[in-house]
Amino acid sequence: MTTLFISDLHLDETRPDITRAFFEFLHHTAINAKSLYILGDFFEGWIGDDDSSALIEAVRTELRALTKHGVSLYIMHGNRDFLIGDAFCADVGATLLQDPTIISLAGEQTLLMHGDSLCTDDQEYMQFRKMLRNPAWQQDALKKPLEERRAIAKHLRMASSEANSNKAEDIMDVNADAVNSALMEHGCTRLIHGHTHRPYRHQLTINQQPAERIVLGDWDGSVWYLTDEGESLSLRSTPF
Ligand code: MN
Repeated sequence: MTTLFISDLHLDETRPDITRAFFEFLHHTAINAKSLYILGDFFEGWIGDDDSSALIEAVRTELRALTKHGVSLYIMHGNRDFLIGDAFCADVGATLLQDPTIISLAGEQTLLMHGDSLCTDDQEYMQFRKMLRNPAWQQDALKKPLEERRAIAKHLRMASSEANSNKAEDIMDVNADAVNSALMEHGCTRLIHGHTHRPYRHQLTINQQPAERIVLGDWDGSVWYLTDEGESLSLRSTPF
């Protein structure tokens, strides 16, 4: 029985091909797994568990079927869907994970993160993140009517893509010191994260010990997932 990791599907009504690929992944791969971890940016946007759409309802149905079958489902917030709440998770049978979370995987202490908190070179984003992740700001935002939340989300998305278009590529990648500190602080030898859309397995040395940073891929055209096979891990992609 395997453990699977995915992130950055950015599910959205404008990309039915990604939703289809995800449902196929559930039916053919995840259904046979022990657990499925979704490490953030599962949805392109999330304005509250009370929002509904054909896409959200279809995803709810599919996730319920997966967890009813006995697969453990874990969801971590990304920078797009950080308002996913306990109500949605309870409804689909998922557990909401803190960022970071530590698990034991293939015999190693493994740190799970979305990855945006490691992009410390992007100071403008880090400030923005501080505001959005403030519980008081979130409580306040969730009290607003759905239409108003939709407008705020649209505005924030536009502001963020405008800001990002002026940033150097390097700034939006993780900071090496932030990665090392996170691994050392939590006593882990492996980090799995998404967010940067730069899938790769980076070999590191931390305290003279080998360590690894595994970056999951986004689903813009390919299914990307990490799976364990006994003691080793495999990062896989299939175009759709
Ligand atoms: Mn992200």
